[in-house]
Amino acid sequence: MIYADNAATTRMSDAAIHKMLSLMKDNYGNPSSLYGLGQEAKEILEKAREDVAGIIGARPREILFTSGGSEADNQAILSAADLGRKKGKMHIISSAFEHHAVLHTLERLKSEGFEITLLDVHENGIILPEQVEDAIRDDTCLVTIMFANNEIGTIQPIRKIGAVCRQKGVIFHTDAVQAVGHVPINVEDDNIDMLSASAHKFHGPKGVGFLYARKGIRLKNLIEGGAQERGKRAGTENVPGIAAMAVALKEANAGMEEYTSHLTAMRDKIIAELKEIPHSALNGDEVCRLPGNVNFCFEGIEGESLLLLLDDKGIQASSGSACTSGSLDPSHVLLAIGRVHDVAHGSLRLSLGEDITEDDVDYIIRSVKDVVEYLRNFSPVWRDLMQGKGKFIL
Ligand SMILES: *Cc1c(COP(=O)(O)O)cnc(C)c1O
Repeated sequence: MIYADNAATTRMSDAAIHKMLSLMKDNYGNPSSLYGLGQEAKEILEKAREDVAGIIGARPREILFTSGGSEADNQAILSAADLGRKKGKMHIISSAFEHHAVLHTLERLKSEGFEITLLDVHENGIILPEQVEDAIRDDTCLVTIMFANNEIGTIQPIRKIGAVCRQKGVIFHTDAVQAVGHVPINVEDDNIDMLSASAHKFHGPKGVGFLYARKGIRLKNLIEGGAQERGKRAGTENVPGIAAMAVALKEANAGMEEYTSHLTAMRDKIIAELKEIPHSALNGDEVCRLPGNVNFCFEGIEGESLLLLLDDKGIQASSGSACTSGSLDPSHVLLAIGRVHDVAHGSLRLSLGEDITEDDVDYIIRSVKDVVEYLRNFSPVWRDLMQGKGKFIL
């Protein structure tokens, strides 16, 4: 089996599993307890906070542990909105191709009276700093733009967007769930005020993540209860999960250079080969993209059929984000970069894991080419196009 859906979730690393199991067995203490076992758990928790903070250039006090990326996005956006509301600033800027954890939170704020500007995404899947600059108003309280897109993998000019926000005095949040552990990030150098991350996207456990919030940005209490996480998030901390996340992030960070060159080579080989399929197109910029991300549209086929046939061949991939498959609507990301409905339905995302081999890549290329040709032979849409009824879009 070749697992090529690492943007949906990743396999936990052996070291992260080991850390988690050993803590579950040997240290089940509650970090709020005063006796030894509890205090040991507290130390493990704070060590994980230091490790995570250190890797992104933050201070430990600026890290809030959460249940994952979605919670971190909600927490960041709702907190910045609260601060804005208090100053009569009720305008928020984001983009049309954000994750639903961001878009749906913004919809909620819209119903509460906020005005939301969703920037158009350029057809190469990039938001320009000038677009952000032009959209900022006196009443803008937050700019939230994702670091790397989860479907098409494009990496945004975050440092420049951050600089624009800083110059205008607007809080800048980035959903960096796809980027943390995959590309270098430093919240100081990159001018980031708030950043969301999730462990299961970098070989850590599911249900754990963190929010970085620059000192001075007051967070909301999303969950009322005890005084954990400095009163911002009640509930006994998930110590094994948090410690395993820190282990996974340290590993990802240490291996980043090596993996990046390997993954980029594998990615570019697949892209070059799949481009040869007639009436196909790469989605998103060819260079400014995550090392392991390949996303194509093939005219005249259904993404779902493509996935099922690839699954039969032992290749696990995706068509649009996991959250949108299962619905009939094509991916909002592909529509945002200007793909029409019919074309967006025929999309394939391969998100490669670090352990992918050259043989795997050759097998993927051969399989995708075979399956696309096979499906087109049965497609009435394709037959019409070939007979000159209707026009090719790609
Ligand atoms: C996966 C993902 C999320 C959600 O993270 P969870 O930990 O699954 O809640 C948010 N944003 C992006 C870009 C993602 O890829």
